[in-house]
Amino acid sequence: MVTMASEAVDEIIAVAVWLRASDIHFDPVADHLAIRFRIHGKLIDADAVSHVARIIPRQVVGRLKVLARLSLTERRRPQDGQVRLETPHGAVDVRVATMPTVRGERVVARLLPADTEWRTVASLGLEPAQLHELRKTAAMGGMILIAGRVGVGKSTTLHAILAERSQAGDSVLTIEDPVERKIDAYSQVEVDERVGLTFAEGLRNALRQDPDVLMVGEIRDEATAQIAVRAGLIGHLMLSTIHADNAEQVVLRLLELGIDASLLASALRLVIWQTLTPILCEHCHGHGCGDCIGLGLVGRRAIFSLLRADQIVEVVDAKHGNKLRNRSLRTAQSQWHGDRRLSVYSGSGAAEREGDITVAEQAEMDRDGYGVSLGGSE
Ligand SMILES: [Zn+2]
Repeated sequence: MVTMASEAVDEIIAVAVWLRASDIHFDPVADHLAIRFRIHGKLIDADAVSHVARIIPRQVVGRLKVLARLSLTERRRPQDGQVRLETPHGAVDVRVATMPTVRGERVVARLLPADTEWRTVASLGLEPAQLHELRKTAAMGGMILIAGRVGVGKSTTLHAILAERSQAGDSVLTIEDPVERKIDAYSQVEVDERVGLTFAEGLRNALRQDPDVLMVGEIRDEATAQIAVRAGLIGHLMLSTIHADNAEQVVLRLLELGIDASLLASALRLVIWQTLTPILCEHCHGHGCGDCIGLGLVGRRAIFSLLRADQIVEVVDAKHGNKLRNRSLRTAQSQWHGDRRLSVYSGSGAAEREGDITVAEQAEMDRDGYGVSLGGSE
């Protein structure tokens, strides 16, 4: 039975890689497993697109757990792990996540072909004007946030920007959950909640590592948001993703998380919202044919919508029903972002302090004539 399960796993994964599936779902049904592939965003029964055996034994779950070095005996709690596998169609990194259901353990395997090159900023699919805006902002520093649904390629966008800044000579530090792919050019930190290394804690400490560019996988709580805004304000290029339904909502979400409106308007320099649109099969125009294994589509491409710094200020203003008091702040910030040496640690003794912008930093800003108003808008 072990051999059978092992062969079944090899076959399913090989077929999935061949079909360019992004995920494989293994759902317990009666005494076997129902297998579905997610291809170009659509969930398809394995039977409909392959000759993978109709009846997959439940032992396949055990085999997947062994491969991903998960506990075989633990069946009541979710687990996740990863493994690199060789298939006839190339090596693939497989992230295995289990979930106990009332019908048994369900497993989802996320596939990331190992030979996939990260895209460059130029090949993301941005319009020329958007590409120019992104590059200009990334070179200046401040905070850039990327939003969109799960699986639309937010990490692809993040890593394209990181790679470009790294090639430009910037020191890049990332805090990820988990680190999906190791990249030699940067320092990557993996979140580990068991030892208290959360996004917020990682980011707080990352600020002491003298980075030019910081990336935190996701902003999902106030603590992370506050430190990220602070990092953006003191001139780092601060990249992250956030859950929101459109670009404007990114700004509103940060305000809801308790970020001061004027600090946000200064720190947040660009919001990139992205989604995927299907590329229809040219042979059947979306109806489904042999060439597109009945899917009607042959892939998806990214579409972006950007919210520039001046538009971000407008959204903040609209939310607060008045104009931010200190318009000159924006000019000051531009100069400030241009000089990364002006860090919070430059001799003020503030380095040891944590949390929001400290009084010492405030004083330093005032001395430099930037006059950041911490009191918010009026
Ligand atoms: Zn077709």
